[in-house]
Amino acid sequence: MDQENQAPPAGSAAAPNPERKTLDDRAKMTDLERIRHSAAHVLATAILRLWPDAQFAYGPPVETGFYYDVELSHRIAPEDFEKIEAEMKKEIKANHPFEKIVVDRDQAIAEAQSGRLGALTERPGLPSKFKLDLLNQIPAGEPISYFKNGDFIDLCAGPHVMRTGNIGAFKLTSVASAYYKGDERNPQLQRIYGTAFKNKTEMEAYFTMLEEAKRRDHRKIGAEMGLFAIDTEYVGPGMPLWLPKGTALVEELEKLAKETEFAAGYVRVKTPHLAREKMYKTSGHLPYYADSMFPPMELREKGAAADAEPDRYYLKAMNCPHHHRIFAAEPHSYRDLPLRLAEYGTCYRYEQSGELFGLMRVRSLNMNDAHIYCTEEQFAQEFRAVNDMYLKYFKIFGLEKYQMRFSTHSAEGLGKKYVNEPELWKKTEDMVRKVLIDSGINYVEVANEAAFYGPKIDVQVWSAIGREFTIATNQVDFAVPAKFGLTYRDRDNSEKTPLCIHRAPLGTHERFIGFLIEHYAGNFPLWLAPEQVRVITIGAEEPLLQYARAITDELRANQVRAVGDYGTDPMKAKIAEAEKARVHTMLVIGGRDMESGNISVRLHSKGPQGAHPRAKVIADILQSIKERQA
Ligand SMILES: [Zn+2]
Ligand SMILES: [Zn+2]
Repeated sequence: MDQENQAPPAGSAAAPNPERKTLDDRAKMTDLERIRHSAAHVLATAILRLWPDAQFAYGPPVETGFYYDVELSHRIAPEDFEKIEAEMKKEIKANHPFEKIVVDRDQAIAEAQSGRLGALTERPGLPSKFKLDLLNQIPAGEPISYFKNGDFIDLCAGPHVMRTGNIGAFKLTSVASAYYKGDERNPQLQRIYGTAFKNKTEMEAYFTMLEEAKRRDHRKIGAEMGLFAIDTEYVGPGMPLWLPKGTALVEELEKLAKETEFAAGYVRVKTPHLAREKMYKTSGHLPYYADSMFPPMELREKGAAADAEPDRYYLKAMNCPHHHRIFAAEPHSYRDLPLRLAEYGTCYRYEQSGELFGLMRVRSLNMNDAHIYCTEEQFAQEFRAVNDMYLKYFKIFGLEKYQMRFSTHSAEGLGKKYVNEPELWKKTEDMVRKVLIDSGINYVEVANEAAFYGPKIDVQVWSAIGREFTIATNQVDFAVPAKFGLTYRDRDNSEKTPLCIHRAPLGTHERFIGFLIEHYAGNFPLWLAPEQVRVITIGAEEPLLQYARAITDELRANQVRAVGDYGTDPMKAKIAEAEKARVHTMLVIGGRDMESGNISVRLHSKGPQGAHPRAKVIADILQSIKERQA
């Protein structure tokens, strides 16, 4: 789940145990996930050879590999990894098949009690306690199975690779502690993390990418470049302050969004950061989403009766309800549609302090938001235009790899997890699918992951170093406009409810800039660079300074973020400083440049580009910015 999404008023309560995968989820496991989950079995096998009394709980694949939770009196440390890995290698070399054994519940319970599950042998007096608990969670009627590799037998529904030898490459990466089922009232276990790949080459590429990601860490580069600060003491955790250089990025992105949206027929609105309780009760955020909102502010109007209930105001966690009220503020006819309301809206969400992470997980966020109110007939075209806007942005930012993840409903969830409108679900999902296919967009379809009020599309992009980010979400909403009583007068004079498309292609400033910092390693293209140009003089004689100042002034008059460095430091030192600050373009000016009316150009991390006439240099800079060249 991505926190920056326009989170739905989640209609479904969390499953009692989030770690337990349904058979449906299991069937969807990819080849890589099978390799990784199989590696978890091999990890358990290895640990048992070293510590036969280990008790295993869960061993699922995760995004970056796998883990197995184990209870063990020996405290496993990274120094133990080598000998555990050596045992794992033996098991892989033995190339044991993963054999599936179907059993009945009574037999499984008896064997768990004898300590045989999650073990190499029976362990009298040492029942497989977590496996017993897991057995009790398997719904009646669901088949119960073991998987056996060599001597190791585990309670598991699969799937795995065929044989242990199919695990191409693996590595243990870390150890942490975790409560059984994530509940602090349960025993604390050791969580051993590892990763596995089809082959060594892919694994090495992964570790190289991690190294590079560390080098490009947005918190590190953000501090080096002076982009943002998080002032936990005075402002609060998770609420970034944009410093002047970060604000330059923010404003460039807003300018891009405003220009693009204006050309696409959007209109801009502005809304307050608060609203009354009634707003969120109507939208359904209260009570379902209350845990992700800041607690209410209570206000007693002056002059109100002493026993009157106070007014409750909430910081907005999303912009949609305010936009709905803007729609409701004026009567509409079919001629007004589609109405595309856009705002870079500020929202506040409560995230647990342990979950906060730099710009990627925050409590205050600025969203590239818009809501498109349209008729059913207009929907396909509007939705397609939204997709085209994404593709345009991907091109500007040089994002070559992306995927749209199209989440649909499930018939069983109607009336529970999903609004009970079977025809509307079918109709809108068909429309969305058709647009995705027609526009040749790269997408995958995932059943049973839609939002409460309509299908959604999560947009995943890969940074220049191949790391995946969920940047934005589009949602189709055919339920909430009706709750807010939104209507338009149709051609035949009847009152109808519009559909609403929620979209935010540039996500939030926080997450998108966090992503861009990694993507560009802080070396932003000229149009986006916080400091676009630095005019550096070789020497500090008055005529030279005048020439340099005139250049800086001309650039600034053209809205270029240009700064002068006219000091007496040696040129080399000035250049080194500008390079360190990741200034995009350095204009290095000496006496000879002045005499010939030239400017010597140097580009960050690319070096000298020669001397060119002043007018040409300035014209090229302006053109590059105007065209948002890569
Ligand atoms: Zn398994
Ligand atoms: Zn929305």
